[in-house]
Amino acid sequence: MIRLTGIRKSFGKDDVLRGISLEVNKGEVVAIIGPSGSGKTTLLRCINFLERPDAGEIRISDLYVNCSKASKKEIHALRRKTAMVFQQYNLFRHKTALENVMEGLVVVRKMPKDAARERGVRLLEKVGLGDKLDAYPSRLSGGQQQRVGIARALAMEPEVILFDEPTSALDPELVGEVLAVIRQIAEEGITMIIVTHELGFAQDVASRVVFMAGGAIVEEGPPAELFARPKEERTKQFLRRLA
Ligand code: ADP
Repeated sequence: MIRLTGIRKSFGKDDVLRGISLEVNKGEVVAIIGPSGSGKTTLLRCINFLERPDAGEIRISDLYVNCSKASKKEIHALRRKTAMVFQQYNLFRHKTALENVMEGLVVVRKMPKDAARERGVRLLEKVGLGDKLDAYPSRLSGGQQQRVGIARALAMEPEVILFDEPTSALDPELVGEVLAVIRQIAEEGITMIIVTHELGFAQDVASRVVFMAGGAIVEEGPPAELFARPKEERTKQFLRRLA
């Protein structure tokens, strides 16, 4: 359903992505792991053009984008098919939890407010925040804010949700509640790509794990295989260091 081909991105002289090709099937949960600075976040941001790739192709279902020639219209179409959950939640501070979830539906999708509110309430209930609809982000814990971020992504009914280290800004005691929500939606068959440092979580939830280093995919495979029997020396080193 998603096919990335030869994605390249440089910042100045720094070749951060050196030609990434990756396929993700519908309903698959792909975890991207790897050392800091290996280009994981940049790859995720390239998929919806938060960073513009220098070269490569992105295909999501019926949409095909040649990155170096992408038009505004194509970028807009790509963004409609994706939703991002950010490390730092990126909520509107002056809007309530419910308003945060409704915002994209009303402003971008032009959904009538009542329908947007109904969907927002349903999704906030789903992530366990049915009692926080009218709370502002400043009154929510990091874990609760991130669950609002997840409800907001779900609200857009994207073809794929991109998670950028969704728990790395959280205090350790709040990580579990967010991972539990992600696990729950993974079980519903929503296609997800998750950049994460939580290897245990990746092992549990992902159908496939992709190990990146130095701007390239070094190795990928089902978690049981990749974690238990890594083939490449760089993967072995990375896993050994974390063990
Ligand atoms: P990871 O997610 O694997 O830690 P990143 O994708 O965040 O890696 O970063 C990869 C490299 O790209 C790093 O060296 C980082 O400093 C650089 N980088 C990322 N974003 C930018 C940017 N906007 N401008 C310049 N360099 C960047």
